[in-house]
Amino acid sequence: MRAELIVDLDALRGNVARLAKLVAPSHYAAVLKANAYGHGLVAIGRALADQVAGFCVYRADEALMLHEAGIARPILVLGPVEPRELDGLHAAGAALTLWNEGAFLNELCAVAARRGAPFGVHAKIDTGVTRLGLDAVRAAPALARYLTLPELDLRGVFTHLAAVEELELGFTREQLARFERALAPLDALLRERRVRRHVAASAAAMLFPALRLDAVRAGIATYGIWPSDQTRDAVAHRLELEPALSWHTDLVVVREVEAERSVGYGCTYRTTRDSRIGLLPIGYAEGLPRGLARDATALVRGRHVPIVGRVCMNMAFVDVTDVADARPGDRVTLIGRDGAACIEANQLGAWAGTIGYEIVARLPEALPRRYVENAAIASAKSSVPS
Ligand SMILES: *Cc1c(COP(=O)(O)O)cnc(C)c1O
Repeated sequence: MRAELIVDLDALRGNVARLAKLVAPSHYAAVLKANAYGHGLVAIGRALADQVAGFCVYRADEALMLHEAGIARPILVLGPVEPRELDGLHAAGAALTLWNEGAFLNELCAVAARRGAPFGVHAKIDTGVTRLGLDAVRAAPALARYLTLPELDLRGVFTHLAAVEELELGFTREQLARFERALAPLDALLRERRVRRHVAASAAAMLFPALRLDAVRAGIATYGIWPSDQTRDAVAHRLELEPALSWHTDLVVVREVEAERSVGYGCTYRTTRDSRIGLLPIGYAEGLPRGLARDATALVRGRHVPIVGRVCMNMAFVDVTDVADARPGDRVTLIGRDGAACIEANQLGAWAGTIGYEIVARLPEALPRRYVENAAIASAKSSVPS
């Protein structure tokens, strides 16, 4: 295999153990959307099933995959669901996110009635992302209705915060106030029915105890990736996150290229000296962004080497001139550690003008993933993919 992702399950579980302890007694739900942020949906679900209170996914089919894998934790589908998916979700015992009235709600109730058990739901209130959710100022009547319909089992009410990652505290406070105002008319009933309130994703869960409420929905931090530089700067001195994912390939060939030769499409790079150019067997089809900044690097033999020229569809170039012993077959690290050198997903994201979230979410499902734990990690880290 010419490229692989290695997922360190000990690192993953270590992150969850520390985060769950930090937020306790709030429940910790791990977010597994986007193929578990590129880490592999079912494998991560299995690895964390005993450790978390529940899982969040985006799509109905993701919930079904977890269910079919025998994962028995509560699952919440965060995204929109189509009527034809309702039967399967109900059978799998998954809860869905509800902000609807009208036809979809009727459909939901009909499925629950036909199947003889209420549908688990979490009501979503929009407080400022302006995405999915009941408008906060008009939410109370809909919530009251959800509470009275025998076909619904209202397990949670939640909202999503827009700008905690940027430490926008004013807006965050306003969102929380809107959420609380929306629930106030039903407060006693929601408490009596033990409906869980949740608003925090990773950054909020780590930064602000007041936002942890009954549960947190943590995605990116679960995988050991900081939600933002601001969050890392504020939290890293008291909480360790260990990246679980590393991404490796190898040098297919190393070419001697004289000075003043162009490399790659568009002739965007010219060698300025006699150079040794290594070819990587992965490109943007494998998730390596095409728009990398000029200072982007990969790791070879524990050294940073520049990624040069345009990233192609299935190939890319590195300049290994300064790594005299670099040769074909050498392991190349795009994300992760090689000796003392390290590249984080957020760093690769910054070189691509984006964030770590996008880098890992776009890693193709078809890339081979290898899961390692305990002693296995030591040998995996030093071996070269063949
Ligand atoms: C993706 C998502 C999360 C998790 O966000 P992270 O920043 O990755 O922790 C939480 N809640 C909702 C509604 C989401 O869509």
